[in-house]
Amino acid sequence: MTRHRASPALDPVAWAHVNTAAIAQNLAWLRSRLHGAVAEPAHPPRLWAVVKADAYGHGLAHVLQALHDADGICVGDLHEAHTARHHGWRGPVLVLSVWGVRPNDLCDPALGELHVVVDDDATLHLLEALPPGRPAPCAWLRHAGCLHSLGFADAEYARAHERLHACAQAGVLAGVGHLLHYASAEDPEALADERAAFLAATAGLPGPRCTGNSAALCGSPHTVAGDDWARCGLALYGASALPGVTGPELGLQPAMSLHARLVAVQTVRAGEPVGYGGSYRAPHDTRIGVAGVGYGHGIPRNLWQRGMALVGRPCRRVPLAGRVTMDCLTIDLGPHATEGAGDIVTLWGHGADSACLPVEHAAAACDTIAADLLTGLTARMPLMAS
Ligand SMILES: *Cc1c(COP(=O)(O)O)cnc(C)c1O
Repeated sequence: MTRHRASPALDPVAWAHVNTAAIAQNLAWLRSRLHGAVAEPAHPPRLWAVVKADAYGHGLAHVLQALHDADGICVGDLHEAHTARHHGWRGPVLVLSVWGVRPNDLCDPALGELHVVVDDDATLHLLEALPPGRPAPCAWLRHAGCLHSLGFADAEYARAHERLHACAQAGVLAGVGHLLHYASAEDPEALADERAAFLAATAGLPGPRCTGNSAALCGSPHTVAGDDWARCGLALYGASALPGVTGPELGLQPAMSLHARLVAVQTVRAGEPVGYGGSYRAPHDTRIGVAGVGYGHGIPRNLWQRGMALVGRPCRRVPLAGRVTMDCLTIDLGPHATEGAGDIVTLWGHGADSACLPVEHAAAACDTIAADLLTGLTARMPLMAS
């Protein structure tokens, strides 16, 4: 299955392969983490599978096929909620932002079981204005926590909760929960402080709690004990949210592999320049491969300085060589390379054999994070799922 391909009979020069079985395995991994975190294994926290941003760039339609065991999905906005329903998702949907939405937009029966994050006064008013006599959504009140970007700080939080609680008692809402998004979930001490502040702010208020994200579940799984729900995105796709450790090192399976074909291979003499501005100088006589993928597909322009590619079988790691252009990038295949046009290179994920170039390494090579690379692919990059 692919997206955005006007001529499906033509083989793509570059594509992202999405392994849906890996996503199902990562979901099972997260579940076992949730089970292991609680002393009373009969009631582990339930799991929202976060599929915002077209399932972190993996293609929502593909990813939903792997989420049969998720308790619900979490989307960015109502557009994504409708898209998920269109693709056949029947379970609960948590919408992170209903900014700019009108009351009638929430009353569409096609939206099914809907949960809505309440992070500002406008959303409070929106829910209070819902007409009676339609399936009532659940509200999740967001505590501002240490992010201080969205949500309510302590005193406003209690007042907002009172208003939502009144809506629930009037039957306008199906329930009210408490939601926190950690600012520093990768740091166990900071996370513990954030959690303590959240528990203090919500103490005595009725309703389920939902805090943990991928970093919390990977790094400090015990902190989700006592929560009713967790929300996980990045780990679902096999990437790590913890610094200095990759998804495969945690036991996760990378779901996306990014491939391109070589469209040309040139011999370059020692000292000769390669690429715009002579950005690379071959340190030795070598073979330079030109792969048909560039920043117009979503490959960061600065990947070349420290980025690597997998090539050949068995796979070897070779450096990018010279600036990434809109349509292609150059790779120093080495003096003894036998690859030619048509051979496949891999910029992250699994190569031709089981070798893996973790997306976290590619992200570090261009000073960003895995989620930035995964969600940054452009519409011209076909997604092929299996
Ligand atoms: C994106 C997002 C998540 C998922 O975070 P991961 O680190 O990908 O697990 C959870 N909660 C909120 C509010 C988010 O915006």
